[in-house]
Amino acid sequence: MHESAVAHDIVNSILAEAKNQPGKVTRVLVSCGQINALNDEVMQFAFEAATADTICQGAKLEIKHIPLKATCKNCSGEFEFDLYNPNCPKCGKSDCTLGEDAPLLLEEIEFEED
Ligand SMILES: [Zn+2]
Repeated sequence: MHESAVAHDIVNSILAEAKNQPGKVTRVLVSCGQINALNDEVMQFAFEAATADTICQGAKLEIKHIPLKATCKNCSGEFEFDLYNPNCPKCGKSDCTLGEDAPLLLEEIEFEED
């Protein structure tokens, strides 16, 4: 499962980052794009499983979904692409050029104050 692999990658990155930090991890912020999006529910579950018995156990996971920009080929309008409603909001056509999807990124790690 995509989310499970991602969760393990994230936890490994956090643990590498946390080596020089004293407290436990309390909050993690991850961002992702639209095409390679994470499912929030599945990701929360995968994160919980991946963090069991680590210093990240019990940390709050936040997922930020970065919108994907699209440009309509018909009217040149720019809009935020929605996978479930891919039509241009101005002219209603579905023929558009997609911008670059945001990569999966570990944005912030918050540690417990000592
Ligand atoms: Zn349009």
